[in-house]
Amino acid sequence: MRKRVVVVGGGLAGALSAKLLEDHCDVTLLDPKDYMEVPYARLRSIVEPDITERSLVPHADYLKRANHLLGYAKDVSDKAVVTSTNEELPYDYLIIATGSTYDGPSTKAERIQEFHAENQKLRDAKKVLVIGGGPVGVELTGEIVVDFPEKKVVLAHGGDRLIEFVGPKASKKAFEWLEQHNVDIRLQERINLDKFSSPSHVYTTSSGASIEADCHFMCVGKKIGASWMKSTFLSEKQDKDGRLGVDNFLRVKGRSNIFAAGDITAVKEIKQGYLAGKHAQVVSNNVKRLIANPSSKLCAYKPLATPMALISLGRRIAVAQVPIGTFLGRIPGMIKSKDLFITMTRKGLGLKS
Ligand SMILES: Cc1cc2nc3c(=O)[nH]c(=O)nc-3n(C[C@H](O)[C@H](O)[C@H](O)COP(=O)(O)OP(=O)(O)OC[C@H]3O[C@@H](n4cnc5c(N)ncnc54)[C@H](O)[C@@H]3O)c2cc1C
Repeated sequence: MRKRVVVVGGGLAGALSAKLLEDHCDVTLLDPKDYMEVPYARLRSIVEPDITERSLVPHADYLKRANHLLGYAKDVSDKAVVTSTNEELPYDYLIIATGSTYDGPSTKAERIQEFHAENQKLRDAKKVLVIGGGPVGVELTGEIVVDFPEKKVVLAHGGDRLIEFVGPKASKKAFEWLEQHNVDIRLQERINLDKFSSPSHVYTTSSGASIEADCHFMCVGKKIGASWMKSTFLSEKQDKDGRLGVDNFLRVKGRSNIFAAGDITAVKEIKQGYLAGKHAQVVSNNVKRLIANPSSKLCAYKPLATPMALISLGRRIAVAQVPIGTFLGRIPGMIKSKDLFITMTRKGLGLKS
């Protein structure tokens, strides 16, 4: 009898794990939407919604044998996952890949409409406020100033430098590039949305200053997809943020048949999409080995020691922080900004282009 594998979460880690395993066992992918979204393309999708045709990849397009079930996991035992529609999904092996929560629409068509609405909101505005100067806020600001240079953009960030997850050199390069593109950058300023009065479009900052803008985009951290495990036996494996402790083989600590991949793991490294893909490779490889022989030697995951990052600034330029240095320009831009890894992600899922 073929072994049953349940994959919870259909983001980068879950989708790739399901794809890599579908020829080797009976795979069920549980995800609340009927598509996988290439996250790197999310901000370009606001200025150019048409790219979502390729960056939103229906699970049905790349899964040939695995079954996709629409819904959330709400409970789990050592034998089965319980879904939001009270279905029980028994498993021999479980892969948890609920990196971040999702409360958006369940179909690709609806998600495309959402991007068109965001695009219209942007087009209708003369002055835009971007809230949050992490990678998401900086990339969105870059997209706006390149595609809509006539718009005034204010970028408000609570920290004392932009993109704090990388070194100060990369922050400085991004800051200077944005300033050259006339972005009004307000550091150490949080926006109090309670005090936001929508008819007059005046936003109040933590220092009491006012910013006038026709609309805003929230670019602050996403919530970890961890709360569904809170009252299950896995809660004792969660750290204070809800991330799952794993061993060197990405097995949830103390569990021989439960793995975790992607942002939900407590692996001590930066949380990034390309690392989520690496986790998926290791986890699917290990599940295959265990299916072939339960006493197989497993392959270990080596966490990334030095954070690397590519932050795009519009369509041609990016800031790169790599082991040999920090650069801003067209070469890093060629790697990321043109296609935003859409083709690479699709090919990783077995699609031709
Ligand atoms: C706008 C943006 C841009 C980014 N750009 C980059 C970049 O350029 N480079 C980079 O390396 N990283 C980037 N990242 C980070 C990258 O997206 C994440 O590290 C990556 O998506 C993690 O993948 P994941 O599969 O672990 O989690 P996610 O992609 O968050 O997927 C989690 C999945 O789990 C599902 N889920 C959640 N809860 C449940 C539940 N209870 N039951 C069932 N399913 C559930 C969700 O629907 C979702 O499909 C970016 C992130 C964002 C938001």
